[in-house]
Amino acid sequence: MSQTVILLDQIRKSYFIGKNELPVLKGVSLNINRNEYVALMGPSGSGKSTLMNILGCLDTPTSGKYVLSGHDVSSMEDNELARIRNQEIGFVFQQFNLMPRLSALENVAVPLIYGGVGKKEREDKARAMLEKVGLGDRYKHKPNELSGGQCQRVAIARALVNDPSIILADEPTGNLDTKTSIEIMDIFSKIHASGNTVILVTHEEDIAAHARRIIRLRDGVIESDKMNAVKEVLAH
Ligand code: ADP
Ligand code: MG
Repeated sequence: MSQTVILLDQIRKSYFIGKNELPVLKGVSLNINRNEYVALMGPSGSGKSTLMNILGCLDTPTSGKYVLSGHDVSSMEDNELARIRNQEIGFVFQQFNLMPRLSALENVAVPLIYGGVGKKEREDKARAMLEKVGLGDRYKHKPNELSGGQCQRVAIARALVNDPSIILADEPTGNLDTKTSIEIMDIFSKIHASGNTVILVTHEEDIAAHARRIIRLRDGVIESDKMNAVKEVLAH
């Protein structure tokens, strides 16, 4: 049964630099169902990160409607928005965005602090997430003691720790070599296979080939939106 988890209706977003308006998203409408696996592509500057930040409730549109898992987030107050975001969304960044002074375990546990989870349960959950991404033996390490690929695994574990239904990833392999990128993409395929909705931004056709649907953005509008023939990744 298909069920809409993300509904965008005529989303526009402008940045204002002084009095100058820079229109970036120029009317994006989109419907994404539960457990879809979507790659968002498009030239640099086409508005991909702007769109991802809106999808992740990290930023708000200038106009248009966004319904996330049945909640109209376009008209929501900040604290309610933060609650929905924590519950529904896990976000993975190109630059990992880990806290340098915290261990892998502590980084993964951060979203649980906001959720009011007790220390023992936080540690148990964070540990389980690190096991899931293959980093069970690195939980004490700080980001500067880990490779780029390992840092991204920590960031993925952090994104998963609240058990969100949707995982958003903005160029998650952009800073990684090819071999490490393939390992990270394997993790996203497994996340998708376990029932999550996955939306990721990439420049690379090889990476996008993991997804079932490819949306191309150009100059702030959707240029194409196509289903993708899936290759060997179905075996996961
Ligand atoms: P992409 O991720 O596709 O490369 P972005 O969404 O990051 O594109 O950027 C789209 C356009 O918006 C670019 O011209 C960029 O310079 C501009 N932009 C992005 N973020 C901001 C911001 N916070 N303030 C002003 N302009 C921005
Ligand atoms: Mg970007």
